[in-house]
Amino acid sequence: MSTAVPFLDIQASYRELKSEIDAAVQRVLESGWYILGGEVDTFEQDYATYCGVQHCVSVANGLDALHLALRAMDVGPGDEVIVPSNTYIATWLAVSQCGAIPVPVEPVEGTYNLDPQRIAAAITPRTKVILPVHLYGQPADLAPILALARQHGLKVLEDGAQAHGARYQGQRIGGHGDAVAWSFYPGKNLGALGDAGAVTTNDPVIADRLRVLRNYGSRVKYVNEVQGYNSRLDPIQAAALCVKLKHLDAWQARRDKVAALYNKELAANQRLVLPMVPAGIDSAWHLYVVRSQDREGLQAALTRAGIGSLIHYPIPPHKQQAYAQAGSGSGYVAGQFPLAEVMADEVLSLPMGPHLREEQQWRVIEAIAAW
Ligand SMILES: *Cc1c(COP(=O)(O)O)cnc(C)c1O
Repeated sequence: MSTAVPFLDIQASYRELKSEIDAAVQRVLESGWYILGGEVDTFEQDYATYCGVQHCVSVANGLDALHLALRAMDVGPGDEVIVPSNTYIATWLAVSQCGAIPVPVEPVEGTYNLDPQRIAAAITPRTKVILPVHLYGQPADLAPILALARQHGLKVLEDGAQAHGARYQGQRIGGHGDAVAWSFYPGKNLGALGDAGAVTTNDPVIADRLRVLRNYGSRVKYVNEVQGYNSRLDPIQAAALCVKLKHLDAWQARRDKVAALYNKELAANQRLVLPMVPAGIDSAWHLYVVRSQDREGLQAALTRAGIGSLIHYPIPPHKQQAYAQAGSGSGYVAGQFPLAEVMADEVLSLPMGPHLREEQQWRVIEAIAAW
């Protein structure tokens, strides 16, 4: 059965910008320059300007952006990094890849984001970094997190993988904390035609370290200062991202409209908890996530109506087999992070994106009314 309303029409963004993207890709193919170079420099400048930040260092994907940013902050074996208990597993894996320990903290129930009031209790002498995630595109409450970090001499790395263009107190995400890690995975709000990522920062030392780390630990060819990585942004992806970046604000306006209609039409439904956006926050609406105690029934009703939906995320990191081993900085037990677990049981993401047509959105609204 074909889905009448797909969760996300991933090809639609290419269809809309086909001539511009084709020309950009063609330009790279004919340039004969296939690693780093001008296209990558241009994207880095454009994205730094967009975010209102001094430096953008591109890398191969979002996980590497997180991992290398932590490495640039000197996170290593035995260090602790505070992470949300409810996030995509990449946030935790980046910490583990440094040999460090992810220390989970529960979210504010209404916003799904790291609860600043719970962070202090998780800080130990080994804590190095606080790593809030702007989950579903909605910025976490950064002011108290930054204040706490300053007070304890910690760095703040934000996971902005879902929050391109989102604003906290009027300012775009990108330069609030010490660094922000970005993913341009195709399904993100700013998505490449394959894997891509970046780190933005106002700290020249972090930016410089990242440029060395992403390129074999080398500044001068065949001279290796540190044991680095191969994590460079592909120039073809950079060229495509430059095209898409020009349309990001227009596409954000379409997402805002979709969210506003859901907010209005679903508000009276007593069986749903809708997203809550506090004052001073502009969400990027990467996902529109509702909560219900009858999540399975809701998803089944949508499926029957030919409507796609997804669960972000069905298993919290501490319950994943990947973190079941004692000694992986875990040994967590079920029930230890009850908010993360109830969210995993109740959340459902409705169709959302700049190419969701209003008529399609009404089918979602009507299917929910009939559930
Ligand atoms: C997508 C995502 C990542 C990882 O990005 P990749 O480019 O897939 O490596 C990290 N954190 C969050 C919150 C994400 O949504």
